[in-house]
Amino acid sequence: MSQTTETIFSKIIQREIPAEIVYEDDLALAFKDINPQAPIHILVIPKKPIPQLAEAESEDRDLLGHLLLTAKHVAEQAGLQEKGYRIVINTGPDGGQTVFHLHLHILGGRQMTWPPG
Ligand code: 5GP
Repeated sequence: MSQTTETIFSKIIQREIPAEIVYEDDLALAFKDINPQAPIHILVIPKKPIPQLAEAESEDRDLLGHLLLTAKHVAEQAGLQEKGYRIVINTGPDGGQTVFHLHLHILGGRQMTWPPG
């Protein structure tokens, strides 16, 4: 992995820093957010270091589908299937993205509001 793609999340993938990992397969990893914004707040990331959704390519089609289905699976595993949950992908500065390794937020365990801040 090159220096330019090194982020806190790539270090979690490499087990260089700890995280509460709740799911892993060959393409994806899911772990608890360190600063939860809901009773359940889990991040799903690809192992491939795509910096943000805006930089995903058509070759990533299957991977992006896999990430959504992984988020569904992890949400079910966390007991969120019945009451529901929110999936968020922050992209770029205006989107509120702070870690430039693509990630899906799974937020659940409370009533979400709309519009988001
Ligand atoms: P973003 O703002 O980029 O959409 O979301 C980044 C998320 O990563 C934030 O919710 C933040 O709390 C979380 N985060 C940042 N650093 C770490 C870390 O070292 N470990 C874990 N588990 N989550 C982190």
